[in-house]
Amino acid sequence: MAEIPTAGGPVDSGALGRTLIHEHVFVMTTEVQANFKTDWDEASNVADAVEKLTALKAAGIDTIADPTVIGLGRYIPRIVDIAKQVEINIIVATGVYTYADVPMYFRLRGPFLPGLDRPDPMVDMFVTDITEGIADTGVRAAFLKCAIDEPGMTPGVERVLRAVAKAHLRTGAPVMVHTHPGTRRGLEVHEILQQEGVSPSSVCLAHSGDSPDADHLSELAEHGYLLGMDRFGVDAYLPFEQRVGVVAELVKRGYADRMALAHDASCYFDWVEPQFLEAAPNWNFLHISKDVLPRLRELGVSEEQIDTMLIDNPRRWFETAVNFR
Ligand SMILES: [Zn+2]
Repeated sequence: MAEIPTAGGPVDSGALGRTLIHEHVFVMTTEVQANFKTDWDEASNVADAVEKLTALKAAGIDTIADPTVIGLGRYIPRIVDIAKQVEINIIVATGVYTYADVPMYFRLRGPFLPGLDRPDPMVDMFVTDITEGIADTGVRAAFLKCAIDEPGMTPGVERVLRAVAKAHLRTGAPVMVHTHPGTRRGLEVHEILQQEGVSPSSVCLAHSGDSPDADHLSELAEHGYLLGMDRFGVDAYLPFEQRVGVVAELVKRGYADRMALAHDASCYFDWVEPQFLEAAPNWNFLHISKDVLPRLRELGVSEEQIDTMLIDNPRRWFETAVNFR
């Protein structure tokens, strides 16, 4: 039992219930939205999010973890407003999302020249979000988030990953790393986190489920990582049958306790044209409840194993902070 901060106030870890480990309320390019006319409309998009999150709760999901950090348009006051209107728990994060460089704000701060032994200001910012709260909202972040993608371990990506590791070691907050399993980026993450002294059991390797390579994923599970099988509905990256197939295969291999499920969906997402989203009809919050769980059952995954992935594993990951010594 542990108290987990959410946008609607602290929740006992035992009451998190069925948890989707990686969903966004809004992913938006804040500076573009503030300066150009787009299809964003504050009132209607907030109402739409309330409706979608209410439907998700009605489908039996009690909690979402929202890894929307700097680079993805994090704005917690709006999330707090939504949290007040829904029953589902929304857990928020701190961190920086980049595939290449650090944001300009950080570029000339901290350890920007090799050999310059100055602390990275990101670390204190992340720690404050976790221990005191985000800006003036009073809402604490419950996990850390960063990313590595096809470009690999660039200097900027490595800097954020090490800052996240240091903030984790100071707070115990669990870590989520966006990865690109097609290029086995998880192993590069493993190398840096080992150097920093981070236990794999505190770390979720997001987007592991984009790969059908059960041997590679087994290797990561064997290290102790929690694998994010978290893009159900993004069929363009991996079709439905392969996505459910690799989960069922890993369950067969004994790794039900190393996986968590989600869609990586959003109520609003401004990175693509609306037609793109129309071409991905399964990429919504209800796909797991409606299609994925029934198919997993057909493939021999038991109710208990589903509960392990939806309830026990996210809970254990969020309890990292409390068990941390
Ligand atoms: Zn995401």
